[in-house]
Amino acid sequence: MNILVLNSGSSSIKYNLWNMKEEKLLCKGIIEKIGYDDSSMTCKSNGEEHRIEQAIKTHSDGIQLIINTLTDKNIGIIKDINEINAVGHRVVHGGEKITSSELVTPEIKEIIKECIGLAPLHNPHNLTGIEAIEKILPGVPNVAVFDTAFHSLMPPKAYIYPLPYEFYEKYKIRKYGFHGTSHKYVAHRAAEILGVKYEKFNCITCHLGNGSSRAAVNHGVSVDTTMGFTPLAGLPMGTRTGNIDPSIILYMIKTLGYSTDEVSNILNKESGFKGISGISSDMRDLNRAAKSGNERAILTYNIFANACKKFIGSLATEMKGRLDAVIFTGGIGENSYESRELICDGLEIFGAELDIEKNKFRGDERIISRDDSKVKIMVVPTNEELMIAIETQTLVK
Ligand code: ADP
Repeated sequence: MNILVLNSGSSSIKYNLWNMKEEKLLCKGIIEKIGYDDSSMTCKSNGEEHRIEQAIKTHSDGIQLIINTLTDKNIGIIKDINEINAVGHRVVHGGEKITSSELVTPEIKEIIKECIGLAPLHNPHNLTGIEAIEKILPGVPNVAVFDTAFHSLMPPKAYIYPLPYEFYEKYKIRKYGFHGTSHKYVAHRAAEILGVKYEKFNCITCHLGNGSSRAAVNHGVSVDTTMGFTPLAGLPMGTRTGNIDPSIILYMIKTLGYSTDEVSNILNKESGFKGISGISSDMRDLNRAAKSGNERAILTYNIFANACKKFIGSLATEMKGRLDAVIFTGGIGENSYESRELICDGLEIFGAELDIEKNKFRGDERIISRDDSKVKIMVVPTNEELMIAIETQTLVK
């Protein structure tokens, strides 16, 4: 079975084609700057990279170009569109109604629409991608894989905010959590590597990228996570604050005179690593600056590691009886051994002991704790696209 995976953003579409018999990635690519004059498509198949520069006005045009390229006589990877058996879509928000991946039906599309208010930057484009491919590949089943679904079994004590209860009842203001597909993938993969039954596996998954979140996975179920009502909550990130005292926002507006749009921009785009360091939102730049002694870069590292450590500590209390593993993933989690070392310093109290030498590598799947560490520390590169393909295959079968 071949499965096309689509991740439709505001002006981009990322895609993968998977052969599920062998769990083999046949082709991947990205369309960028949809709606702009200088839009382009880059794709990689059979070890070769191709770039197509042409005006791509709409998501439908983009998806048609993907299909044309996949079936192209010279650079294509399949002969005919009939070789695409199903399509899996990344959808960011499924609200409270969605607790798992779903075959796309008019009802599911309605739910994605209902959640636009909760994810205005993502859900509309995810839906556009679904509707475009429905027209281009009629009769081929579509599956929606939701970022929020993995966290949907959190208990109310984890997701209810201490606001007047009606804000939850009337407006659905609660913790939803994000990055669910990544947390789920790495938790499954880590259980497989350790030879533990997933249903019995207890771990803390740390997705650290431009956006970062952690999840406490107890007996295979996410019981708490650090992102909240929106992906602004939790850890300090590339440009996002993570958790701060909410009164700061009121102070910025009422006393300092910032508009709500300005505050939103500061919290989402000017804060985090970028805001503290004044250098960059990118961990690689901070790493270079910290190594050359830049104090604000060092401070950024320390604030980030401290927040990560505290969240691991608090999430560890959610484990009933035992914590099997702490798992790092995402661009920073997979590559920045410097960050992993700082974050793990102090986790010995939970029986998680890092092996400093084993930790010194980037971008691979490994156990990095000492052999006698009670809790395993692991690096598992995330593969959200494969997870979407697996979920799609399961539902279509
Ligand atoms: P996104 O959340 O946008 O998917 P990624 O998961 O790709 O982001 O993570 C991006 C982050 O990973 C950036 O801060 C980047 O600096 C960091 N990163 C990527 N490669 C390395 C590396 N070799 N060393 C340190 N940090 C890295």
